[in-house]
Parts: sequence; structure tokens; C-alpha cells
Amino acid sequence: MTTFLHDKAYIGGVWRDAASGRRFTVRNPADGTDIAQVADCGAAEAEAAIAAAEAALPAWRARTAADRAEHLRRWHRLILDRAEEFAALVTREMGKPLAEAAGEILYGASFISWFAEEALRANGELIPSPWPDARIVTTRQPVGVVAAITPWNFPVAMVTRKAAPALAAGCTMVLKPAEDTPLSSLLLAALAEEAGIPAGVLNVVPTSRPGEVGDVLLDSPAVRKISFTGSTETGRHLLARAAATVKRASMELGGNAPFIVFDDADLDAAVEGAIASKYRNAGQTCVCANRFLVQSGIHDAFVARLAERTRALKVGPGMERGVAVGPLINIRAVEKVERLLAASVAAGANLTLGGARHERGDLFFSPTLVTEVTPAMPIWSEEIFGPVAAVVRFDSEEEAIRLANSTPYGLAAYFYTADLGRAWRVGEALEFGMVAVNSGILSTEVAPFGGVKQSGYGREGSSLGLGEYQDVKYLLMGGLAARGDNSK
Ligand code: NAP
Repeated sequence: MTTFLHDKAYIGGVWRDAASGRRFTVRNPADGTDIAQVADCGAAEAEAAIAAAEAALPAWRARTAADRAEHLRRWHRLILDRAEEFAALVTREMGKPLAEAAGEILYGASFISWFAEEALRANGELIPSPWPDARIVTTRQPVGVVAAITPWNFPVAMVTRKAAPALAAGCTMVLKPAEDTPLSSLLLAALAEEAGIPAGVLNVVPTSRPGEVGDVLLDSPAVRKISFTGSTETGRHLLARAAATVKRASMELGGNAPFIVFDDADLDAAVEGAIASKYRNAGQTCVCANRFLVQSGIHDAFVARLAERTRALKVGPGMERGVAVGPLINIRAVEKVERLLAASVAAGANLTLGGARHERGDLFFSPTLVTEVTPAMPIWSEEIFGPVAAVVRFDSEEEAIRLANSTPYGLAAYFYTADLGRAWRVGEALEFGMVAVNSGILSTEVAPFGGVKQSGYGREGSSLGLGEYQDVKYLLMGGLAARGDNSK
């Protein structure tokens, strides 16, 4: 039976300390207490993990898809069996309310069961040949060793979205989790081990020195793909470095989601959607509404209702009953929110609600509403990543589309309307990888998750997710005419 706190790296099926003996502290953001001292890996461990993943690759790739699927199903079952304790661990290391953590366990596990199924459908193709004595076949082969680098905001789901399709495809993986949340990744690895996933197929290298480990992963010619979720700034750096060995790359980067409310929207539904989209995970999701664009005719009613609902959100430690908004991940995150708010208010934005740290502690921020925001303010152009709703007023559909698209990011967008024509027009005009109409939540394993523009490329989940970890091979079968037959 797996224990829940793993503090060593997992490399080649062995739980080990860093050769340097270094460790780093993982803290509970709700109260600052130490949860664990985790092995602080460096270049040596990253190299060992690549070697282990390389060694495990031939046998894992050679297994049947059904066999790999069965391993994934066992892994999925073990995660669900321990879902309650796993959720508590997520809340302790990351801070989100327990109910949200429980939701993340289910959501994260769903990628494993989904890709167990998808593994079975990795079909090739027979293409009509231009030559009578030849056949053209395509097959899908695993890309090889994959490096994954993940953020702290969904410490389970951001890992399974990569590991499940990679393993299903027959790849092996070296995972570098976020420094703030390595414990969820290590527990996932422990459950994978218990599920019988062979040594070296999934390796976890926790570190407080992401650059040192990242450079080894990116520079290694043995690593054939980098799959990254995190900020656009880090993604740009990784892409540049990956160019030297021409690695394949999936980049799930930052967002700046518009949430548009048209005059004809159902007000109650729009407010509920806004609450779900803005305050989930204390505003720390890449698909969080970052800019509320509200049409003049409904603006005041929407703001009043949103303020009322926001005021009722309970702030506190994620383990506490009824809490809707937990702490932010660290003090840098709090300071960023404060900086964005101060600059906006100084430039004329109106602070309607909140606006300061909460009495529960330094990492807790009061749910906040600012109105009369303009595109000149940094709160408009930067990802807030905190519980702050910034509201902008607009008059026409064209203006809303223009404002929504005026960002280098293109991950998620939301809008509320009762007009079917407008739903199609605006849905097609928004330059975002994912658009939700009359809904504030859109993530599911069955739909393709990913961005356009500087929010990155590649799709996770859905029928497209497996292909991110496969190379298509064209196989020409020539010389098929019967011997001595010159009729061709
Ligand atoms: P981040 O600073 O870019 O970190 C993400 C990961 O990259 C962490 O594991 C981090 O390690 C690592 N990292 C940082 N510098 C590195 C380097 N030089 N070499 C190798 N690895 C490096 O992002 P974050 O602040 O943790 O996460 C929030 C961001 O992620 C937001 O922008 C959010 O929108 C984005 N995000 C996007 C998606 C999506 O699907 N598009 C989903 C979730 C989050 P450390 O933890 O040790 O710094």
C-alpha cells in the first residue's frame, strides 16, 4: 500500500536522494508550515533519468497497445481508490479548496482512462497508391523519450494530461514538476509503480533549480519531445533551447481570457459563469476570465450582481468547510496582484470590492472587483492569476471582438448571449483556441485543450492528444507485382 508522502526522486524505478544530498522545503501556502523536505535534483539526476527512460523505451514501445492500456487502467483505478487522501495532499501543497482538489483528482485521472482507450485506436491508414505494384501505408510510432515540465496550479491534472497520452503512445517520460508542488507528482509516480508500470517508463525529477535540470532535458539529443505547461516567458526560453536538437514541442502557455457579456445575455447565468470562471483556484488557472467585457445596457446590473455574489465567497484555508477561495501559491503571486491593482487604480480604475490582503493571512487575497478598466492598464494586458475581476464597458459587438482579440494571447474566451447568430459570429471571430458560449467552464478530457498565438500550440486531451506523442511513418510497400509479370 502506497504512503502519501514521497520525498525522493523516482528514477529508473528507484526512489533516491540527490547525489549532492540537497533537499528543498515544500510548504503549505495556507499556514506556511513545512510539509516535506524533497530531494533537490540537479544535472546528474536529470541525466540518470534520461538514461533510465531511454533504457525502458524499447520494451515499453514493443508492448501491445492493449497491454499499455491495461497498465493505465490499473493506474487510474489506484488513483480513484485513494482519491480522498490524494485530494487532501493537493490542498496541503497547493492551497485550493478541498472540493476543488477532489474535482482535480477526478479530472486528472480522467485523462488516464481516456488515453487507455485512445491507445487502442492508434490506427494507421492505407492510402490509394499511384503505382499498381505498390501500397502506401502510414503507421504511428511513439516519438521516444519525452520531457515534461509542469506548473503548480493543477499539480495532478497538468501531469496526467501529458503522461497519460505519452505512455499510451509507447513513449517514456522524464517529468520535472513545479518546485511548489512536487508531492502530487511523486504520489502519481508511486501509484504508477504500484500499478505495475515498469521501471524507467515514468521518472520524476524534483528540483529547486529548474534551469539546471531543464537545460539537461532540453540539450539531450535522446529527448525527442518537450511538453511544457507554464508561462509564455518560460515557454519561449524552452523553445529556443529545444531548437538546437530540433525537438518536437507542445506548449500550453499563458492566457488572458476575455469574458464578454452582451446585453441580451441571461444575467443570472452570466454571473454564475463569471464566478466559476474567475474565482476557481483563487483565479490561478490559465483559462480564468482575466478581462470582463460588459455591454453598456447590462453593465450596471451585471456589476451589482457580481459584487453581491463575490462578497459572499468564503476565504480561508482549503481544508476548512465552505471555503471557496484559498490562499495564493506564494508571496510573489500576492505581490503581482497588488502591483496590477495599484497601477490600475492609479490610472483611474474604480475599486468596487476588496483590493487588499485578507485577514486570514499574507497569502490570502480578498475577492476583488475593479470597474472602469481600460486597455491602457496593466491589469488588462497581463495575466492577473489572482481573485480579481476587472470589468471593461463596451457598446457594440464589433468593439467587443476587437477588444477581446487585442492581446498576444489566445487560450480561452467566454461570452454570454441569447442570440444564435451572434453566438456563431462572435464564436468564429474570437482568436482563441477554446471558446465557451454561455458557460464559464470548458475543460474536459474529451475536448481539445490548447491555445493559439502566444498561448502556444499543441492540443491535450480529445482524439488529438495521442498524436502529440506519435510520429507518423510512411511505409511504401513496393515490388508487389507477381514475379515475371511485366504487365505493369
Ligand atoms: P512558470 O514559471 O513558467 O513555471 C512552469 C514550470 O516551468 C515550472 O515547473 C517551473 O519550475 C519551470 N521552469 C521555470 N523556469 C524554467 C527553466 N529555465 N527551465 C526549465 N523549467 C523552468 O509558470 P508558473 O508561474 O509556475 O505557472 C503559471 C503559468 O502557467 C501561467 O502563465 C499559466 O497561464 C500557465 N498555465 C498554462 C496552462 C495551459 O494549459 N495553457 C495551464 C496551466 C498553467 P519552478 O516551479 O521550479 O519555477
